Amino acid sequence: MKTSPRPDTLITHAGRHPETQHGIVNPAVYHASTVLFPNLGALDEASHNPDIVRYGRVGTPTSRAFEDAVAALEGGFRAVTMPSGLAAIATTLMALVRAGDHILVSDSVYGPTRTLCEQVLKKFGVVAEYYDPRIGDAIARLFRPETRLVFLESPGSYTFEIQDVPAIAAVAKARGALVVMDNTWATPLFFRPFDHGVDVSVHAATKYLVGHSDAMMGIAVANEASYPRLRQYALMTGTCAGPDDLYLAQRGLRTLGVRLRQHQATGIALAQWLRARPEIVRVLHPALPDDPGHALWQRDFRGASGLFGAILAPCTDRQLAAFFADLALFGIGYSWGGYESLMLPAHLSGMRTVTTLPQDGILIRLHAGLEDPQDLIEDLERAFARLAAAR
Ligand SMILES: *Cc1c(COP(=O)(O)O)cnc(C)c1O
Repeated sequence: MKTSPRPDTLITHAGRHPETQHGIVNPAVYHASTVLFPNLGALDEASHNPDIVRYGRVGTPTSRAFEDAVAALEGGFRAVTMPSGLAAIATTLMALVRAGDHILVSDSVYGPTRTLCEQVLKKFGVVAEYYDPRIGDAIARLFRPETRLVFLESPGSYTFEIQDVPAIAAVAKARGALVVMDNTWATPLFFRPFDHGVDVSVHAATKYLVGHSDAMMGIAVANEASYPRLRQYALMTGTCAGPDDLYLAQRGLRTLGVRLRQHQATGIALAQWLRARPEIVRVLHPALPDDPGHALWQRDFRGASGLFGAILAPCTDRQLAAFFADLALFGIGYSWGGYESLMLPAHLSGMRTVTTLPQDGILIRLHAGLEDPQDLIEDLERAFARLAAAR
């Protein structure tokens, strides 16, 4: 009997075929547009068999290597790569909805996903309605006859609400709607969307899968029923990713396990330290036992990544500027999932329409990198001292 490999083993081996390339460990980087065929018979065969490489945009062994690895790790049928996480979200939504459809989207969704719904999907006659991420199976009352899809992201961007994915997926399934989840935060390692009723899982691979802040990449992993629509839509709209970035993504993936466990440990250490600080009103981290999402997180997730939020007690603009000035280790910048620590104040005006943002202070987002946690704590300690001195 063949046993199925565990996640860390899949991370190491999935999508690699050294025996087909002189024993070389990593997949080759194929730069390709034209693919040559020896005769018309071979050309004809390639047009009927999607697994035969026939043109650069349609896929190469380089894209296939990354897609196969992520699909295997996540437990989906197959995957489609895209040039960015947002492109993966856009392609997936456009592939699965049509004019006249109503879709339910989490209120805590990544900002550009909301903008896509409002500025692009709306233009094509698709209506997005936002729901409270803590709604659970009460989402049933928001369903209309034309509701075709639920888009969720758990935990939510910036506010880190955990959703009851199985409950929401069960309602969607009963109503014949598809469930798409942005699983960027947890990665395939810490949340298994297909075990919880999700049809398509999308990732900003730019974050933890690439893991080194040096490439943009997106990937959508689908179950068997949804894959053909996704693949066809990507083919029809010319969506593909470049070979060097695909290579970096599959290379980053090989160390995801060890990196993510360290991001988790440091993130929890920083969250606990911050919670004890008088300048911090609350920490938004589902691994903390008093977090409102903790029970669901514990039930459904296998771990926490290094991204979380904290609410800084109200202070003046000058104090906030002093807090962020002269940080030695925390960078101020967008994105996350690389090896370095980052911190940003949230600017979310207009990005919530059915829930309210925390009102009791200033929401900041932290990414715990791979530095020594004690050095990170000392960097934050100096930041709090600057904040106090700026009074
Ligand atoms: C960053 C991010 C995206 C978009 O990814 P890009 O590669 O930057 O386009 C999508 N979803 C979430 C949750 C993200 O954090």
